[in-house]
Amino acid sequence: MAIKILSILMVLIGATFLLLSFLPAKKIFANVTDRIRRKWFIVFYLIGFFVLGYLFFDIILIFSLPFPVEVVTGGVFLGGAFFVYIIINLSEITIGAQQQSERAIALARDDWENTFNTVTDMITVQDMDFNIVRANPVAKAILGLRLQAGIPLEKCFKAYHGAEKPPSMCQSCQVLETGTPSTFELFEPYLDRHLEIRAMPRVGSDGQMLGLIHVVRDITKRKRAEEALQENEAKLQAIFNTVGTGILIIDSDTQIIIEANQTAIEMTGLSQEQIIGQLCHSLVCPAQEGKCPVKDLGQRVDQSESKLIHVDGHQKDILKTVYPITIKGKDCYLESFVDITERKEAVRQLQESEQRYHELSIVDGLTQLYNSRHFYSQLKIEVDRAKRYEQPLTLFMLDIDRFKTFNDNYGHVEGDQVLCRLGQVMKRCLRETDFACRYGGEEFTIILPMTTGADSVVIAERIRTEFKKEVFSPVPGQNVHVTVSIGLVQYKPLEEIKAFVRRADQRMYQGKKDGRDRVCSEP
Ligand code: GH3
Ligand code: MG
Ligand code: MG
Repeated sequence: MAIKILSILMVLIGATFLLLSFLPAKKIFANVTDRIRRKWFIVFYLIGFFVLGYLFFDIILIFSLPFPVEVVTGGVFLGGAFFVYIIINLSEITIGAQQQSERAIALARDDWENTFNTVTDMITVQDMDFNIVRANPVAKAILGLRLQAGIPLEKCFKAYHGAEKPPSMCQSCQVLETGTPSTFELFEPYLDRHLEIRAMPRVGSDGQMLGLIHVVRDITKRKRAEEALQENEAKLQAIFNTVGTGILIIDSDTQIIIEANQTAIEMTGLSQEQIIGQLCHSLVCPAQEGKCPVKDLGQRVDQSESKLIHVDGHQKDILKTVYPITIKGKDCYLESFVDITERKEAVRQLQESEQRYHELSIVDGLTQLYNSRHFYSQLKIEVDRAKRYEQPLTLFMLDIDRFKTFNDNYGHVEGDQVLCRLGQVMKRCLRETDFACRYGGEEFTIILPMTTGADSVVIAERIRTEFKKEVFSPVPGQNVHVTVSIGLVQYKPLEEIKAFVRRADQRMYQGKKDGRDRVCSEP
C-alpha cells in the first residue's frame, strides 16, 4: 500500500514538472524557425504520447491490471526509439542553423569593422560620460587620440574642442537628452577645420540610452572654396556697383536687359526696376535696332561711339564695349559704356578754337582779308597748279591813291575805315575762287586762278569803279571819295613767284605814274 501511495505521489510531482515545463516549451516553440517548427510540434505530440503512455503503464503496475507486459514494454521501446531519433535529428538541424547564424554574425561584424576602419569620415562612439570608447583610424589620426590597448582615453569634448567640459551650446548634448539624431556644421578653431557633424543616439537592445555616435566629415576644403567664391562674388558686386562705367547685362537671345549697375541707373535717370525688362535698344544705340553690330551682324564692339537715351529724352554720347559672357548657363552680353558728351564737347571746342587760331594767323584783323604770309603760300599753290595744268593765272596789285594825305587830313582811324571798305568792295566784286589779301599797309593783292589777264581787266575795273563810288564822311557835312590804282599781270610760264609779284607791283606804279585811279595791265 505504501508503494502505491509513493507511486501516486511521484506521478503527481511528475505532472507538476510537466506543467512547469509548459511555458519554456511554448517559448522555445515560438523562437524556433519555421523550417523546424513542425518537427518541434511532433516532439510535443511525442512527449504527450510518452507521458500518457508512462502514466498508462504506471496505472497498470499500480493497480495490477491484466495487460500483457510484452506489448506494454514493446510499445514503450518503440516510442522511446522514435523519440530519440526525432530529438537527435532536431538537434542536428538546430546546431546547423546556429552555426550558420554565428557565421552570418561574424561576417556582419567583419563587414562593419572594415567599413568602420576604412570610411573617410571620422567616427567616434561615446558612452554616457562623454568617454570615447571607440574611434576609427581617421578619427584617431585627426583628433590625435591617446590610446591604451587600442582604446581611446579621451573625452569627446577634449578631443573635438580641446575643452575640459562640454561646450555651452553643445548640440550633441541635446541629442543625448532628446534621443533625436541631429546634423550640424561648425568651424572648430581647435582643429582649424570646418566640420559637418552627424550626432546619433547610441541605444541598447533594451531601448536604454548608452551614449552617442558621431560621424564627422571634414568639409574645410568645400567651406574655404565657398568662402573664396563668396568673397569673389562680393568683390565683383562691389566693382559692379561702384565703377564709374555704366554696365548692362543683356540676354543675347531676346536683347532684354536683365541687370544694370548704379552708374547705368544714374546715366539713364531710370530706376533699376524701370531698366530691367526693357529692350536694350530702347536705352542704348536706338538707331541700331534690327542691325545690331553684335547680334545681327556678328561683329565685335570695342570702344565704339554710340548714343544713350536719358529718361528726359535727350541723347548722350557714349563710348561702349560689348563682351559676350555666360551667366548661369545663359548667353549674355556685358555692355559697358562711359559718357563722352563732355569730352566730345571739349574736342569740338578745341577744333573750333584751333580753326579760329588758324584763321587769326592767316587773316588780317582789320580788313578780314588774308594776310601777306598766307598770300605767298596760296600764290605758290596756284602757280604750281597753273604750271601743272597749263592754266592761266592773274595777279592784281592794288594801292590806295594819296592815302597819306587822307590820313594826314582826317586821321588814322578814318584811314582804317577806308582800308576796311576797300576790303569789302574787293570781296563783293570777286568770285569764290579768287583770293584777296592785304599785302601790307594800304596795298592789296588778288589772285585770280584760271583767269587770263585780258578777262580779268573787267574785274579790276569793277573794283576800281565800285570803290570810287564809296562815300566817306570823315568830317560832318563833307563827302570824300577815295580811288585806287591797280596793276594787273598774267603769269608767264616758268616765271619765279617773286618776279611775278614784282611785275604786278611795277604795273601798279605805272598806274600811279599815269595819273592814278586806273587799271594798268601789260601791253
Ligand atoms: P600814292 O598815291 O603814291 O600811293 O600816295 P600815298 O600817300 O598813298 O603813298 P605813301 O606810300 O606815301 O603813303 C602811304 C600811306 O599809307 C602812309 C601811311 O600813313 C598809310 N598807311 C599805311 N598803313 C596804314 C594803316 O594801317 N592805317 C592807316 N590809316 N594808314 C596807313
Ligand atoms: Mg603804297
Ligand atoms: Mg598809296
